[in-house]
Amino acid sequence: MIPEAEPLLSVQGLKVHYPVRHGWRGKPLAVKAVDGVDLTLHTGQCLGLVGESGCGKSSIAQALLGLVPATEGVIRLDGHEITGTAKVPAMALARSAQMVFQDPMSSLNPRQTIREILSGPLRLHGMTDRAEREARVAEMLSLVGMAPEVASRYPHEFSGGQRQRLCIARALILRPKLVICDEPVSALDVSIRAQIINLLLELKDRLGIALLLISHDLGVVEHMSDRIAVMYLGRIVEEGGWREIFTAPAHPYTRALISAIPDPMHRDRAPARLGGEIPSPLSPPEGCAFHPRCPLAMPRCHSGGGPEFTRISADHRARCHLLQTGNPHV
Ligand code: SF4
Repeated sequence: MIPEAEPLLSVQGLKVHYPVRHGWRGKPLAVKAVDGVDLTLHTGQCLGLVGESGCGKSSIAQALLGLVPATEGVIRLDGHEITGTAKVPAMALARSAQMVFQDPMSSLNPRQTIREILSGPLRLHGMTDRAEREARVAEMLSLVGMAPEVASRYPHEFSGGQRQRLCIARALILRPKLVICDEPVSALDVSIRAQIINLLLELKDRLGIALLLISHDLGVVEHMSDRIAVMYLGRIVEEGGWREIFTAPAHPYTRALISAIPDPMHRDRAPARLGGEIPSPLSPPEGCAFHPRCPLAMPRCHSGGGPEFTRISADHRARCHLLQTGNPHV
């Protein structure tokens, strides 16, 4: 069930459109990377945002961090609006929300020591006392399972897993309330993925932060997330608790994604194959955007503005016309 308290993060009607060029007879065109997304995330929760590459997951993260402007919609983080004219300054936003990137090597400056990398944000945010900065750096290194002595070393002296631990330490150094993890383990060896996943979960509980996990890997999302939102072509098509999503997926797209998870216990199981590619967000299909690939598409799926959400249970909803007709395949 959704907790009653005010969420740490609330996103309403978020649109992120990128104007690209003027088309036929001056008609403005835009890549609709995010096209009307609602999300809520409570303190202590992990929300998994899943979908294929290009579905708009990373654009949502960038809008949350103020890196791209929201075309429309409202984002509230920790009681403050971060969109529109009354938005909080970038420095204040950086103290509330931070990000862990996919590739730890390219997100650490190779010319700086770990001490410089971790203490830079503290200096920038007004911590002038050197001893205080040193103490915070040592505290964060210890939190992510690294010895304080590594502070004098450079990023290239560490393994991929250790570098991702250092990236997590950097994300936590300002004590944010929300950490956005964009594919945090997909660039790591399989053998160390579990360590980083468990570290993130442990830190979430220990520090009382919220995690927004962006991933195309449903195995990782299933393990980490309390709630899951499935995205397709800029919109959420299904949303619910992880148990509802994994045991009773309602949208044909979610079912195809879940059936594609490798399952060594059921090697004979044939995954539901999705035909074709994700359409261009520059000219999304009419009707349900999933209809060109949906094995259950009907004539009404090809026109109109697409299906609205149908509530399946108190904490589970999906966008599909079949849910409104009580089709037994859903
Ligand atoms: Fe498939 Fe139609 Fe449902 Fe879209 S609305 S997912 S095309 S059945």
